[in-house]
Amino acid sequence: MTLIDTHSHIYLSEFNQDREKILERAQNEGISVVLLPAIDSSTHEQMLELETNSRGIYQSMMGLHPCSVKEDFEEELEKARVYFEKRPFKAVGETGLDFYWDKTFISEQYKAFEEQIRWALEFDIPVVIHSRNSIDECIKMIAQYQKGKLKGVFHCFSGNTEQAKQIVDLGFFLGIGGVITFKNSGLDKVMEGIDLVNVVLETDAPYLAPVPFRGKRNEPSYLKYVVEKIALVKKVTSEEVGQLTTDRAQKLFKL
Ligand SMILES: [Zn+2]
Repeated sequence: MTLIDTHSHIYLSEFNQDREKILERAQNEGISVVLLPAIDSSTHEQMLELETNSRGIYQSMMGLHPCSVKEDFEEELEKARVYFEKRPFKAVGETGLDFYWDKTFISEQYKAFEEQIRWALEFDIPVVIHSRNSIDECIKMIAQYQKGKLKGVFHCFSGNTEQAKQIVDLGFFLGIGGVITFKNSGLDKVMEGIDLVNVVLETDAPYLAPVPFRGKRNEPSYLKYVVEKIALVKKVTSEEVGQLTTDRAQKLFKL
């Protein structure tokens, strides 16, 4: 079985001690590609360095995370933009809106999000969206810019059935990860009503480890627990989940 982890921050210091082992375990579980979402200029270089030494397994996005949008967001955007002038990236991201951690810079978050949506359209690559306590606002934003060309993922989707339907209708994918294995997340129920062709897999490592590792550091090899849970919910085999989601991710991100 071949799997793709479409969202994993393996370049962060949480993995400094055993990055080689993590790669080995990921490959043992059939993971062929791990996409690296950017956060901000404090980690862009370490992300790109990891990609360089990975023989195509790690592939980078570029962008500015909504939690990193502060007073200096215009400079941060400019720094990300400079990278886009130098080389291609798999996606713009992660970007979006986060009303959970800090609401101080909401209007700046909107501006940064809009700018990055424009980059996705300009370079014809997907936009990877972080939406914490802001899913309806993010859907609204995408709807506004969706004139048939915009594509991307609502990363770490944990909304309701109606929101899932709206996202699918906009031509976007749902990034499904460890949350689906959490007791009482309700995501398994929502998943029952979602066609698997609209789903890509992700870990969001080091965060959101699936059961039985909930609360621990996450890593790409744990994707198999997400696959098993989706297979159970959708009453298909793990192989089918793997095949379908891998095919979707390959086409979306041109892997
Ligand atoms: Zn992330």
